[in-house]
Amino acid sequence: MVTDTEAIVLRQTRTVGGRRMILLFSRKFGKISVGTSLNEGGKNKSALAVRPFTNGRYELFKGRESYNLNHAQVLQSFYGIGEDLDKYMAASYVLELTEKILPDEMPQMKLYNLLLEFMEELENRGKKHETLVMAYMIKALDILGSMPQIRGCVCCGSTEEHLNLFSVKEGGMICRKCGENLKEEDSRPLIYETNFAIVDILGYFQKHPLSAFRKLALEEKTLEKLQKIMKQYLAYHLDVKELKSEGFFRDGL
Ligand SMILES: [Zn+2]
Repeated sequence: MVTDTEAIVLRQTRTVGGRRMILLFSRKFGKISVGTSLNEGGKNKSALAVRPFTNGRYELFKGRESYNLNHAQVLQSFYGIGEDLDKYMAASYVLELTEKILPDEMPQMKLYNLLLEFMEELENRGKKHETLVMAYMIKALDILGSMPQIRGCVCCGSTEEHLNLFSVKEGGMICRKCGENLKEEDSRPLIYETNFAIVDILGYFQKHPLSAFRKLALEEKTLEKLQKIMKQYLAYHLDVKELKSEGFFRDGL
């Protein structure tokens, strides 16, 4: 069966006999692996469309167990990302993260549009890309229903006090009383005390489009702490750990 879809290239790997597999995040089918004998160094138009950081239209042959690429066409190529090391690192991290949190063969239009928006914003952004990456991460988790709980204590529901304790294991903000109880039960409770308005920051990320972050950057210290918390959170709840591209995050995380 021949079909076609718009897609973003997440990754490319070599397989036997000079063939390649490209991992696509497609609009129609979600995350799929597609076999091809095209090589990105080739001169034809389809070859250009198998490079990472490309949004393209892909004509596929769907066999019983796999997809093969018939023809591809570039719709948008984010050259600006490939030419700037910091942007390249940020985009590599985001593509790898997206690959890890996205289930196989399940269409996810909202996340697709968010990823496209991220690439556009990153290509045009001047500096401090980590804030944009963090915004993408929070919004992606929100779309997939995996965002940390920030409205009220995740254990007891208390909304009364100013919440500044984040429990990785419980998956969100907790009140001081629940924090004390958890510390007694568990010698390594993975609770972080935040001296910044983490609830407001995560809420802002959740509510605003990525374009709202063009002139915004988190303070270094806030960013570092947030990265540390979210790294633990991703590992604990989504089994996302040791990403190849996580050197993008700071040392000591
Ligand atoms: Zn509580």
